[in-house]
Amino acid sequence: MCAASHPNMTRKHAALFSLAALSLCTIASAQSIQGFTPASSTREAQVETKFKSIPTPDEELRQHRIFTAEPHVAGSKRNNELADYIAAEWRKQGLEDVIIRRYDVYGTNPKSASLEMIAPTHYQAALREAPLDADPDSKNPAISGAWLGMSISGEVTAPVVYAHSGNPEDYDLLRKNGISVKGKIVLVRYSNPYSYRGFKALTAQREGAAAILIYSDPAEDGYKKGKVYPDGPWGPEYKIQRGAITYDFIVPGDPQTPGWASVPGAKRIPIEQAASAPKIMALPLSWHDAKPLLENMDGPPAPESWQGGLPIRYHLGRERVKVHLKIEMENGTQPYYVVEGRVRGADLPDEWIVLGNHRDAWVFGGVDPSSGTATMMELTRALGQLTKEGMRPRRTIIVCSWDGEEIGLTGSTEWGEQFADELRAKAVAYINVDEATSGPNFHGQAVASLAPMLIETTRTLQDPSGKSLYTAWKAAAAREKEEGKQSGQMNDSGVSDGTLADTRIGSGSDHTVFLNFVGMPVIGLQFDGDYGVYHSGYDDFYWMNHFGDPGYRYHTLMSQLWGVTALRLANADLLPFDFASYASNIRQFVDELAKNKSVILSGVAGSRSEAAAESKDLASSLDLTGVEKAINAFEAAGQHLNESLAGKLASGQLDPKLATSLNRGMMQVERNWLNPDGIPGRPWFKHILYGARFTYAHLELPGLTEAVEAQDWPTAKQQAEILQRALERNTKLVNELNAAATQP
Ligand SMILES: [Zn+2]
Repeated sequence: MCAASHPNMTRKHAALFSLAALSLCTIASAQSIQGFTPASSTREAQVETKFKSIPTPDEELRQHRIFTAEPHVAGSKRNNELADYIAAEWRKQGLEDVIIRRYDVYGTNPKSASLEMIAPTHYQAALREAPLDADPDSKNPAISGAWLGMSISGEVTAPVVYAHSGNPEDYDLLRKNGISVKGKIVLVRYSNPYSYRGFKALTAQREGAAAILIYSDPAEDGYKKGKVYPDGPWGPEYKIQRGAITYDFIVPGDPQTPGWASVPGAKRIPIEQAASAPKIMALPLSWHDAKPLLENMDGPPAPESWQGGLPIRYHLGRERVKVHLKIEMENGTQPYYVVEGRVRGADLPDEWIVLGNHRDAWVFGGVDPSSGTATMMELTRALGQLTKEGMRPRRTIIVCSWDGEEIGLTGSTEWGEQFADELRAKAVAYINVDEATSGPNFHGQAVASLAPMLIETTRTLQDPSGKSLYTAWKAAAAREKEEGKQSGQMNDSGVSDGTLADTRIGSGSDHTVFLNFVGMPVIGLQFDGDYGVYHSGYDDFYWMNHFGDPGYRYHTLMSQLWGVTALRLANADLLPFDFASYASNIRQFVDELAKNKSVILSGVAGSRSEAAAESKDLASSLDLTGVEKAINAFEAAGQHLNESLAGKLASGQLDPKLATSLNRGMMQVERNWLNPDGIPGRPWFKHILYGARFTYAHLELPGLTEAVEAQDWPTAKQQAEILQRALERNTKLVNELNAAATQP
């Protein structure tokens, strides 16, 4: 047993220290793995050693080539053939119950698009990516032109206005300059700061724009960053970032079945009524196509912060630049296919670890997602081999190849909605890998209860640099922090185990349904690096072999890491959840919210109106002390449980019946963070700790935070009560588990 306590420490420090102490325990007795008895730790170490020896760089490359050989967007013939390929491979590898599930969803396909500047001069946009001699795949005639998923069809001739990043404050600035975008076409750039293109589209739609053009400025991912493809990893002149503009931050999945699965025959709402279906024309541009528009614009010069990387002076634009835009889409119901396979658990077949990666790509998907798909195929090969050699996991591991992630997280959402009840009863956790690697920097994401086990797992893997993955991760996190500091985004230094894993989980990939709708703990794994060809035709096999992961060593490491993490969850005697870690994370969220609230209030105090005074009165009635007390109680309960379970495990004496009831109880904790009504205005998003902003950015305590930011104090009060009740529910549960664990 290895419990940490020190009378002079504050609670916060104690929580951090207990994490560190846990890690020290691991070092002290090399055989002891969190959640395992000494005997089963030894067995687990053997299983993991065997597992890690199976994936090879050659096989990773071979699989990667198969998936990147042709474009395979959702709904395409090629993508459906790849579903059949995966199913056949999995059967050969020894996976069980392999099945392809069909969902009939609202899909999106481009038919044609044209953009022509008709004043002050004539320019016909290329809307295509230039083939490159170095990269044979770039000459594939099946590469699509410029398109954005879920754009509507239409034709318009109108002036173009530059609206910077296309966020609401950008339109405020235009208004201040007397520029309205009503009926006009807005030209916006992808980043600065980054926001999801769907939010840019919704904002333009709300502003009454006739269409939106979104281009890649060289300042963000092009020559201002470094050498461009094929000489470097950054985006070249003709690079087009495709993508969907679905409003899946309101509700993801098939827009016509919000909250239920699109199984054949399911009820469908009319598309006009679908909250997540855009009602605006949208097209992406390379900087090559955006430059003629930008350099011909009139109106006031754009502010310094709006200037981009092109060697021109950016203007806001009034009437001078006129374009004719025509987009023809084929949006309608089409089948998407999710491939599902499993390795049935030897002891506990009704406890599930779910793994997933999406298969659909905008073009070849070199990084996104085929690097992930290749690592999944090597992971399943290794799992199959372990099973054949008699090392079947104790719990069931389910692996899924999702479809239509790029369109609206569609396949995973429909699957999660279809099996929500069963998942709530059986699922331990979901582990997502989307882009496995675009470089060497590890980024690990986990709900805070699983952060310590993820960190422990990385200690047992070797990074290609020769260090442990844990050491490499810390170094990458420190570098990132240093860069953040330089750009003024962060100010504290040092990376401890307590802050190593990213516990702020937004949306933007297939974990969303599992965390926010089903209430499952999630983990997300990724290696990243300099990557300027995202969602373009250049994100392909050649790019990966020259820049992303030459030698496929990070692919191999990802298969190992993903598999070992899954095996630890699948084989643990007691599930390695750390609720004290969860509590200290929630405390951080609440502290930040309280700070945010006082910032908002100081603004209100400054405005001195009667309404402001009233708002301040109401705000003072939002008292968070009840929530804070509930967090302290939850943390104490979590610490007691950590100690009791560590003691039980160390003793090696664990009654299987008791273990099952403890594990079942621990699985319930994440479910208890769900509010069945969802967060205000977005009933599909049910998790009260994690959510996403409309930009996809992470949003902690979503219901409460949004209410505070809107200064809607009655709702804030109600959301705080919901949070407090959930904390109390989980404290009670964890205390009960602790009582059961400590009974003689
Ligand atoms: Zn992806």
